Amino acid sequence: GIEGVEDRPEDLKARPPVVTVMGHVDHGKTSLLDALRTTDVTSGEAGGITQHIGAYQVTLPSKQKVTFIDTPGHEAFTSMRARGASVTDVVVLVVAADDGVMPQTIEAIKHAQAAEVPMIVAINKMDKPGANPDRVRSELLTHGVVVESMGGETQEVEVSALKKQGLDKVLEAILLQAEILDLKANPNRPAEGAVIESRLDRGRGAVATVLDQKGTLRRGDIVVAGTEWGRVRALLDDRGKQIKEAPPATPVEILGLTGVPEAGVPFVVVENDNRAREISEFRQRKQREKANALQVAARGTLDQMLARIQAGEQKQVALLIKADVQGSAEAIAATVEKLSHEEVAVRVLNASVGQITESDVQLAKASDALLIAFNVRATTQARQLAQREGVEIRYYSIIYQVADDVEQLVRGKIAPKHREKFLGYAEIRQVFNITRVGKVAGSYVTEGVVKRGCGVRLLREGVVIHEGELSQLKRFKDDVREVARGYECGLSFAGYNDLREGDVVECYEMEEVPA
Ligand code: GDP
Repeated sequence: GIEGVEDRPEDLKARPPVVTVMGHVDHGKTSLLDALRTTDVTSGEAGGITQHIGAYQVTLPSKQKVTFIDTPGHEAFTSMRARGASVTDVVVLVVAADDGVMPQTIEAIKHAQAAEVPMIVAINKMDKPGANPDRVRSELLTHGVVVESMGGETQEVEVSALKKQGLDKVLEAILLQAEILDLKANPNRPAEGAVIESRLDRGRGAVATVLDQKGTLRRGDIVVAGTEWGRVRALLDDRGKQIKEAPPATPVEILGLTGVPEAGVPFVVVENDNRAREISEFRQRKQREKANALQVAARGTLDQMLARIQAGEQKQVALLIKADVQGSAEAIAATVEKLSHEEVAVRVLNASVGQITESDVQLAKASDALLIAFNVRATTQARQLAQREGVEIRYYSIIYQVADDVEQLVRGKIAPKHREKFLGYAEIRQVFNITRVGKVAGSYVTEGVVKRGCGVRLLREGVVIHEGELSQLKRFKDDVREVARGYECGLSFAGYNDLREGDVVECYEMEEVPA
């Protein structure tokens, strides 16, 4: 096939950088993207690009071009990475000067760092009376981002998206970063890239915004995008204008696909219909197999990782740690990082407080990381996503056990013999005090099943307050072995009585890991 062609150095030409804007809500990501749109010199007096798709490109007076992905925030960035696309060359981190570093700022930093994409800090809202850029700088420092004025390597610019001030400095910083990255592509080859967004249009059928990262995409090309394929019937640029071809890093909308591909999937131009159909069918089959293997997917990850380590193919184990308190998160991070050795490094992508969310799962998926839940649970959505995506979540309540397992893993030794299998959740609705028995929790099974003798974790506001065993399970007066979702039951816990209405009981059992 013609896909997968190697480029010779002499064929490579400079290409525009692709930029994603991230930051906390309301810090001005959208405003900055809108303001930057107006810096385009080719769109005349009217003030910028109006007709736009999921990405746009500005041409500067110097004729240099910069491409912006038009979905601000790290969710899109990371979910695209999770599907295999890494289109972003530079992240612009927007921090409002009057508000400073906020939770989503920190998340954005972690996501950019995990992807190893360089950042430029845009300190926004400088026009506001409460603006305090120095505070932003020192807050960033505490999160490992050292800006240039503080002796670091991260470029920073002070801007006002509202007043359109400092935009030229943002662009300059991007171009400088692009120069450092030495971004190049061979325009004289069939295109390869990623789908940025897609939709079904009533009149035009499947419409996908794509960014070619290599080569030139042309009208008439036959493309495969994820499991979909088709002949490119029309190419439209970010102003909705029909064009014949798109050079590297130029966002375009394409028409002609047989179906709507997922955002983040790769696309490639192939030589003919047959080849396209073949790849598409192969991928569809893979997808079906993956769906069938759902249950085993999650448990496969650790074993696969171990096998790669044993084969000397994996040089790093990435971990994402969520704990009930910051002290534990930091202690675990410090402990496991020390387990790095010459062959395999342990890399903690993030160690923070709180339950495991979908965003954590996406990040773990994108970075091939294990998720460590220390005295915290995963939200239902996060757990389902983890199962679908084959991301492993491991639950612990003792730090040395985390250290033990990680050590075994990086040393390429045996995988843990037992693994936790999630059973279900029950919610405590009422607590009864029964003579000679103690406290019994009148509960309702909200998900899965609960089983007598199973492992339990008692969660109060998402935090584990007790770990133990379900010693008694009753339906009305009778002892039963298990109770399924939608039924009420009475629970008691061996030697534990601090039960409250509203507590959630997470049930699991240990299963043998097949050798
Ligand atoms: P996003 O949630 O990060 O996309 O933030 P938006 O771009 O929607 O901006 C949030 C609010 O901040 C809006 O009311 C904007 O008008 C305002 N805003 C954005 N940039 C600036 C700025 O530079 N100065 C001032 N004063 N307000 C701004």
